[in-house]
Amino acid sequence: MNKEQLNILQEKQKEFFRSGFTKDYRHRIAVLKLLKNIIIENESKIFKALYEDLHKGQIESYTSEIAYVINEINYTIKHLKCWMKSKRVRTSLMNQPAKSYIYSEPLGTVLIISPWNYPFALLFTPLIGAIAAGNCVILKPSEVSKNTSNLIAQLIYDNFDEQYISAIEGGAEVTQNLISEKIDYIFFTGNSEVGKEIMKSASKYLIPVSLELGGKNPCIIDTDIDFEVTAKRIVWGKFFNAGQTCISPDYLLVHHSIKDKFVQALIKTINEFHGEDINSDSDISHIINEKHFDRLNSLLNDGEVIYGGKNKKKSLFISPTLMRNIKSNSKILTDEIFGPILPIFTYVNLESEIEKINKLHKPLSLYLFTNDKVKQDMIIQQTSSGQVCINGTIHTMVSNTLSFGGVGYSGIGKYKGKASFETFSHRKSVLKKSFVFDAKISYPPYKTSLETIKKAFKFLY
Ligand code: NAD
Repeated sequence: MNKEQLNILQEKQKEFFRSGFTKDYRHRIAVLKLLKNIIIENESKIFKALYEDLHKGQIESYTSEIAYVINEINYTIKHLKCWMKSKRVRTSLMNQPAKSYIYSEPLGTVLIISPWNYPFALLFTPLIGAIAAGNCVILKPSEVSKNTSNLIAQLIYDNFDEQYISAIEGGAEVTQNLISEKIDYIFFTGNSEVGKEIMKSASKYLIPVSLELGGKNPCIIDTDIDFEVTAKRIVWGKFFNAGQTCISPDYLLVHHSIKDKFVQALIKTINEFHGEDINSDSDISHIINEKHFDRLNSLLNDGEVIYGGKNKKKSLFISPTLMRNIKSNSKILTDEIFGPILPIFTYVNLESEIEKINKLHKPLSLYLFTNDKVKQDMIIQQTSSGQVCINGTIHTMVSNTLSFGGVGYSGIGKYKGKASFETFSHRKSVLKKSFVFDAKISYPPYKTSLETIKKAFKFLY
């Protein structure tokens, strides 16, 4: 679609939104149920597309893309009535007699832009929030995961009027063309550098944004741990989807006194999970494309590979890899890894690691493994990140009540569950006054002395 065609589509959505149809509670629920049915009926097509794009196995596809979205739909359906209710809040004495409320109203037409790593879930999860809040939606799936993008476009086209929900395929240029004065909100998931471009374009029209970005997630391993469980939780969280997860542990900081024992525990776990002869046929995701394969492959030269490092360009496969003795000034130290490579560093003192982490960009996620409650509190209270998980990694995703989103360089805004509904709504303040009484003190000519006003204002709010 060219810019002119996109403009016509956006105009149609504006008009449809003005009709008020999307605001009706029963309509929102019906559409969420329809969305759920579309997913269930097309499960095998979704599996196929994810396999073609990422070589993603059915278990990881089901848990992280299909069940994840269905669970979000179920949770939203269950709570939507309550979220939509206007909330009565306290009214100041000055305004009495009156009633004060917060009303949630939809924003209008929202644009949802998604990345390729969970190409289905990261488009459909915010879509649920946008529908629940009563908006019209334009979806822009990632062109990099082209099979999933094609499938999503087809499913949306087959099931929804374009004036209500539409999926537009394409890359950067199409996305930029979609950013116009007719868009009321942009929900972007992707790279921090691209996030800056989105925010810049949105600023021309003062469009508010959510930016769900990436970065480097530290994972600290103290001495007071269960070695076997810690290794399992880290290996699972890191190599799920071949490390192409925004919240996967980017690097390990292992207490120096346990480093050898812990590395052995990691190796044992990888062998248990994936077999000693892991190869490109294994049930493990592959790298999305050659560009990312080459980028990751070059990171293998940034230090000593102590386990793994097997790769096969033809099938875009890199095996789970552990590295240490990382060279100074190397890219693996500064860039988000976003692949199955896990560099291991050691530390002596937690306080100084906290200081170092606090000098870097605020991470999307921070992990600490320890039984020591004082150290747990230190990490929670003395660092800033989108989320913290103690004694776990990507486990935070399995939650309806923990909202998701970064802080600072790792993002702006929160979503999932109620947070999604709030993101895609405007919370409008409403004051309903009565004619019964009208306080004269407010009006000129002001006859009350300043001293009296000062005293009165202590009670009037
Ligand atoms: P990306 O930023 O390259 O692309 C994301 C989307 O933006 C795509 O739909 C793409 O077409 C579009 N796009 C790319 N360049 C653009 C431009 N100049 N102008 C307008 N639109 C543009 O991200 P990616 O490579 O698809 O995904 C990987 C990144 O996303 C990683 O950094 C990862 O950490 C991050 N991510 C974050 C989250 C989160 O929830 N915080 C989740 C998944 C991925």
